[in-house]
Amino acid sequence: MKICIDAGHYGKYNQSPADSRYYESDFTWKLHLLQKKYLEEYGIEVITTRSDQSSDRGLYSRGAASKGCALFISDHTNAVGTTVNDSIDYPAAYCAINGSADGIGIDLAQCVEQVIGTRQPARIEHRRGKNGDYYGVLRGATAVGTPGLILEHSFHTNPAATAWLLSNRNLEELAKAEGIPVQRDILRAGGTDAGAIHTARFGVKTGGISIPCRYIHTPAETADLEDIRACVALTVAFAQQ
Ligand SMILES: [Zn+2]
Repeated sequence: MKICIDAGHYGKYNQSPADSRYYESDFTWKLHLLQKKYLEEYGIEVITTRSDQSSDRGLYSRGAASKGCALFISDHTNAVGTTVNDSIDYPAAYCAINGSADGIGIDLAQCVEQVIGTRQPARIEHRRGKNGDYYGVLRGATAVGTPGLILEHSFHTNPAATAWLLSNRNLEELAKAEGIPVQRDILRAGGTDAGAIHTARFGVKTGGISIPCRYIHTPAETADLEDIRACVALTVAFAQQ
């Protein structure tokens, strides 16, 4: 699987009104390199849209660079105008209007909500422009058939969120959590112990984490070691929240 990650802005762009040390472009540059590192640990091929932080590249061309990829992500932090705002901090995924990235969009936005601990819940949005998607990067991604999304990691107009995002250790944690590969499944047949647990006592909130495998319950049962590692990482990340 191949994923294309775009550091949303270049140079020194979008200084935070809450803390003059924070620039959105610095954050997105650091985060996208960490995302690449952690995704590659799971055997996922990652391409990026720029070779260095100081050079720009057109919006459409950055989206179109994702040709042949399973996903295009553009990293950002959001802003409410240009002044400090204490109350707004929701993470958001602006997903391609064709709906192709909605599922992964809400998963990633909720991941950001949980890791940062935002007060407002994650959401997904769609913005339509005159020629399809409002955002040029998403128009480019859609044109080459890649599901695309813009991921807003809370607001750099919010002092608490800005302070959190300034920590390199937090960025490591964020990238690590965002990079755990997961997909949702519905069991058509069979079951797990979660079935018994959720009806125990007065009902217990229960979820299952399953390792994808073939030829289950046979001597030739087969699974991918990367999937097993991802399940361990997901369990650890869940326990840490
Ligand atoms: Zn931005």
